[in-house]
Formats: sequence, structure tokens, C-alpha cells
Amino acid sequence: MSADEGVYAYSAVLMGSPILLKLFEDNAALAAQVFRLIRHQENILTVNRAHSEVMAINHAAGREPVCVSREVFDLIQCAHQVSLLPHSLFNFTIGPLVKRWKIGFQGRSVPPQGDLEKLMALTDPREVVLDPERRSVFLRQPGMEIDLGAIAKGYIADLVRSFLRQQGVERALINLGGNVQTLGAPPQAAGWSVGLKTPFGQADELIGVIEVAGKSVVTSGVYERYFERDGRLYHHILDARSGYPLDNELLSVTVVSDRSIDGDIYTTLLYGLGGEQSLAALRDAPHIEAIFVTRDQQVICSSSRQFAFRLHDRRYQLTTDNTA
Ligand code: ADP
Ligand code: MG
Repeated sequence: MSADEGVYAYSAVLMGSPILLKLFEDNAALAAQVFRLIRHQENILTVNRAHSEVMAINHAAGREPVCVSREVFDLIQCAHQVSLLPHSLFNFTIGPLVKRWKIGFQGRSVPPQGDLEKLMALTDPREVVLDPERRSVFLRQPGMEIDLGAIAKGYIADLVRSFLRQQGVERALINLGGNVQTLGAPPQAAGWSVGLKTPFGQADELIGVIEVAGKSVVTSGVYERYFERDGRLYHHILDARSGYPLDNELLSVTVVSDRSIDGDIYTTLLYGLGGEQSLAALRDAPHIEAIFVTRDQQVICSSSRQFAFRLHDRRYQLTTDNTA
């Protein structure tokens, strides 16, 4: 019997991404509830429309604090803390640069240096004032913009997992455009198979397969959203310190963890650290495991306690950090 037998797959396009839900029962009503939950969160958190809780904060930048719901405040507080970590690439005030580059959207171009410098001055997370009592958020400088794009999908994937658990579901998978969260494993199988894409390959081309049960798998890759100009590639993870997309030896970072929000945070953090420093950092974070794909065709696992990896593409060389 194939592990796919008895699977009911439901799909939608939300948050500008394909969403896939796998269940082991024919339950379109439950799938509709999951998609409603995702749409509701998107409505609150989006910065790609004129109105949302986050946009209310952005519109009031330089003017006044804005009170938000507990959930949004907690998420912003989390993004704020991660942004303030020493040497953190993660910066939730990256909005002005993201909007200017428009990577993944119409009208993208390489901005002039002068523009980038002006916008970089508006990406200082220390200029965000949080008041936990009032649950208010204030962006001190006019023009500042919060962008939760690097963390929202992981946060929502965890909400979906909690909701499904509450509904008594024991086995399920939700894929939010690359953020995968799982409950249990399929019947008769040790785990779910999550593909690791070949960078710049065909849509279905895989370097290998990650097998997990009850874990999250998040991948952030430079090949996901990008454009090319004059032989250079510009992708969607920006470095507020240079104003440009981050440029190092990594093509993708995958994080396996219990919570998908951790996966989302760590993919960005580790991507910023580069492979070698990441491996060192992960030795002190046993609950976070990562798989790095490098430009010179190596696949490096920090450790593999929570997952199994099967290499399919023999052009890549697989290694595991034995010191972990
Ligand atoms: P995706 O799953 O869409 O590839 P990621 O989790 O990799 O998303 O986050 C990328 C998104 O995060 C960008 O589209 C942008 O909105 C935002 N972003 C870009 N650079 C940074 C950064 N340095 N820190 C935090 N968020 C960022
Ligand atoms: Mg992320």
C-alpha cells in the first residue's frame, strides 16, 4: 500500500502562495475552516493591502502609537526581539526596502544607491516602541514600515496545527507556500515525505526528501522569488545593513523544528550567518536542526535527530556535522 492511499488533499491560494492541506478523512468542511483561519490571519497581518492591523501601525509611523490585538502584539514582540539579537539578519522593520525592491511583484528594479541609503535609515528596529500594557506599537520615524513576511507563515502554520489538534485530528499536513507543519505521520509510514527542491531546477526536481513526523519543515531559498538584471540575481531576503539582497554561499536553508515559527525565524537568521557560523550556533540549539544547500553543491545537515534525509540528486554531496 502506498503511503498516499487514503489521503484527501485540499488546496487554495492564500497569502499569494499555494496552500495544501492533507487529511486522512474526506472532510471538506474542516478544510474550509482551516482556509478561513488562514484568510483571517492574512487579513490582520498583511502589508500587501491598504488595510490590516499591521498597516494601521505603518500608516501611523512618526505620528502615534496604535493599539492592536493580543495575537498581533505578541507576534510583533517576538519579531522585535529576534530583530534585536546581535548580528541578526532578521529585521522586521525591513518594510521600506521590501516595498522599494518589489521582488516577486510587478515593477521590480535595482534601486539607485541614494534611495537605498535613505530607506536603510528607516529600518532600525530600535526605533519601534512597544507598550505591553496598552498593547500598542509606535514606529518613531515617518516612513518606517513593519513587514512580518518572514515570520507570518510559520506563525499561521502553528495556529493551523493547534486548530486541527483541537478538532481531534491526529495525522495531517499543512503546506503554506513552503512552510510545512505536520501532525503525526501517515498510516503505515514512519513519517511525511517533504521534498527539498533543486535550486533553479524544474518545478518537480528534488535534491532529496526529508522525512518527519509531527515536525515543521521550513525552507527559505534564493530561488523562490527573484529577478535577474545584467547577469546578477536579486532575491527576496534583504540585508538592511547593505540595502541589497543577502549574498553568500547558501542557496537554501531548511529548518526542522517543532514549531514552524521557529523554523521561519531560524531560516532567516541562519541564512544571514552563513553555513559555517550556523553550524557552530546550532550546536547550542538542539531543538533546531538545519539543512544547508550551498552554491558548490553540498547538502550539509547540522544533525538529524528529528528527521531522515534521502539524497536523490547525486550531483550533490551530502554531509552531516559530526561535532553536533
Ligand atoms: P518566503 O517563505 O515567502 O520565501 P521567508 O520566510 O523567506 O518567506 O521571508 C521572506 C520575506 O520576509 C520577504 O518577502 C520579506 O517580506 C521579508 N523579509 C525580507 N528580508 C527580510 C529580513 N532581512 N528580515 C525579516 N524579514 C525580511
Ligand atoms: Mg522565514
